[in-house]
Amino acid sequence: MQPVVHFRNVNKYYGTSLAVDNLDLAIAPGQFVTLLGPSGCGKSTTLRMLGGFETPSSGEIFLDGKDITRLPPNKRNVNIVFQDYALFPHLTVARNIAFGLELKGLPSDAIHKRTQELLSLVHLKDFADRTPDQLSGGQRQRVALMRALAPDPNVLLLDEPLSALDAKLRQQMQIELKSIQQTTGKTFIFVTHDQEEALTMSDVIVVMNNGRVEQMGDPHTLYSKPRSRFVASFIGQSNFLDCEVISVEGGMAALRWEGNVIHAKVDTRQPAIGERVTVALRPEALHCSSEKPMDRLGLSGRVLQRIFKGNHTSLVIALANGQEVTAQLDLVALSQVSGDEVWIGWREEDAVILAD
Ligand code: ADP
Repeated sequence: MQPVVHFRNVNKYYGTSLAVDNLDLAIAPGQFVTLLGPSGCGKSTTLRMLGGFETPSSGEIFLDGKDITRLPPNKRNVNIVFQDYALFPHLTVARNIAFGLELKGLPSDAIHKRTQELLSLVHLKDFADRTPDQLSGGQRQRVALMRALAPDPNVLLLDEPLSALDAKLRQQMQIELKSIQQTTGKTFIFVTHDQEEALTMSDVIVVMNNGRVEQMGDPHTLYSKPRSRFVASFIGQSNFLDCEVISVEGGMAALRWEGNVIHAKVDTRQPAIGERVTVALRPEALHCSSEKPMDRLGLSGRVLQRIFKGNHTSLVIALANGQEVTAQLDLVALSQVSGDEVWIGWREEDAVILAD
C-alpha cells in the first residue's frame, strides 16, 4: 500500500544545529500515529515540515505519492491543530468550524450540513451559537479539532493538543480523539512527550531522539521488544543488566552477569558468543521470593525500599554488586517476600537482549 506520508532523507538545520537528522519515515493511511520523544528531539519540526510551516534543508516529503516539499501550507491537503487551539474568539462555535469551508467557497447549505455533522460527532450541537469563551477547555478542544477536520484533510496534524488540559480531562480526550480518528478513518499524526498518552491512543508510535527515529512500531511491540536503552526507559521503566554471551542454543542465550549465569530468549537478533550485551527487564517481569528458586534463574539481592503504589508495591533491590533494580509486585507476589533478603528471577521470554 502506498504510504500517505513519506519523508525521504529529510534533514532540517536551524543555523548549524541539526534538528531533524536524515529522517526516513513512511506512514500508512488511516492510522493514529504518534511522534514521541523528549523535548527538543525534533517532533514539532517534523510536523511543521509536513504542514508546510518549515522547509526541509534537504530531502523530500511526499503526500499520497506527490512531492509537496516546497508547497505552501494552503496547497497541501493537511491541517493542523495547535496546542493553544487558536479559535477565533469573536466567532460562534458553528462559524469557527465553518471557517475553512467558507474559505473554500462551498455553498452555504453544504457548509451548514457539514458543520452540523461535525457538531454531532463531538456532541456539541447545543453549543453551536456560543463563543469560545463560553466553553470548557475540553469543548474548546473539540471545536478546534472539528474546525481542522471540516475541510476534509487527508492527514490531521496534532501538536501536543492536550497539554493544556488537566489530567482527568486529558485522559477523557485521549479516548475521544482515538474514537474520532476511528470514526473518520483519517490519518492522525500526533506529537507528544507523554509516553502514556502515546500508548493509549496510537496504532503506531515513532520514538524520536536527537532528531532521529529510534524505533517505530505498535505500542505492544515497543513496550515488549524495545531495541535500545533509550526506548526501554522512555516507554515505561526498565532494569538493565550488562552481560557477556556464553552460549546461544535453541533460541535461548546463556549470559554471564557478575559471575552468575542468567538466561534470555533470543528474539530479534542473534548475539555472538563473547559479545557484551545489555538485557532489559521490566519491573513487572521480575519475580521475587525469600526462598532460593529451584530452577536455573535467580539472583540474590537485598530489599532497600518498599514503595506502596496502591494496586502494586515497588521494591527497590540491591543486587550483589550494589546495582539497584526495581520490581513491581502485586499483593499475592508480595506475600512471597518476608524479609529483606530476596531472590529475583524472570521468565526468559521477558528478558530482552537490546540491539544497541
Ligand atoms: P520537540 O518538538 O521534540 O520539542 P522541536 O522540533 O521543537 O523539538 O525542536 C528540535 C530542535 O530544534 C531543538 O533543539 C530546538 O531548540 C530547535 N528549534 C526548533 N525550532 C527552532 C527555530 N525556529 N529556530 C531555531 N531552533 C529551533
